[in-house]
Amino acid sequence: MAFVRRALQLPTHSSVITPLLDIGLWPLRYRRARMALKYLAYLVDCPAVLVAAAFRVSCNLVHAGHPSWISDLHYALHRLPSRVPFDPTVPITAASVQTLLRALEAALATHVRGLIQQATKLAVWREAVLSLLPQPPAVSALFKQREYLRISCARTRKDVARLFSGVSPCAIEALRSRGIPRARRICRFCRARAIVEDEHHILFECPDPTLQETRTRFYTAVFAIEPGLLHLRRRCGDWHFFGTTMNNARTANAAATLVTTAFTRVRTTAPLILDSEEDLMALPNLPG
Ligand SMILES: [Zn+2]
Repeated sequence: MAFVRRALQLPTHSSVITPLLDIGLWPLRYRRARMALKYLAYLVDCPAVLVAAAFRVSCNLVHAGHPSWISDLHYALHRLPSRVPFDPTVPITAASVQTLLRALEAALATHVRGLIQQATKLAVWREAVLSLLPQPPAVSALFKQREYLRISCARTRKDVARLFSGVSPCAIEALRSRGIPRARRICRFCRARAIVEDEHHILFECPDPTLQETRTRFYTAVFAIEPGLLHLRRRCGDWHFFGTTMNNARTANAAATLVTTAFTRVRTTAPLILDSEEDLMALPNLPG
């Protein structure tokens, strides 16, 4: 799976599931299981005498309690993170193989939803992508090439991928590796005790003039392209609106530009390092 991270220039400690989702590529174990089930569908209806005989032998071995290709398939489906029920002793038909293929898709969707719901670092993907999909989302909606991957600028694509994978340059993530407690990962621009520097604060809240100007340019560009989104902006949250613009081929570039410009502003400003609770308490509670 390392190549998926390399494709989006993500660090090795980042989650692999978000790049897979955004590229539209199933995890390897599920892809292998799907290939095996499609081969099983071929075997069930295969007119070739020798192939049909080999399939019957494999089924007979399972019925007699011996290992075979069919029992290996049962083991592989049973060992998936979200298992697929398969009784190899029941006669296999074309219809039962199609049922297994549908069960495999459902198992993958369940597995992915669980991963995204549990991972704190994947909150942006959860809020800006998953929450916008029809619930419960189908595998085809989860694993789908996202609009931002069509953006020509590699650096912009990389920044959006980092946002969705929970490895942004914001203090909430960048200071984690230094062992600094979450409460002390304070916004480098606000320098106020109550303001943790996370992705939402940097993209949508921080009063830093450069970030505010970036935000204004984003909204101006989006409303010029899609005036109808003004109504949506008034009635939905920041991540929902951002996710909508990122999922729209006409506005994805403006949304991605917001991300890369804001992250550049963060990268070019030194973080606020607080070595102790006393340093934290010395800050004002809110920006001056
Ligand atoms: Zn701030």
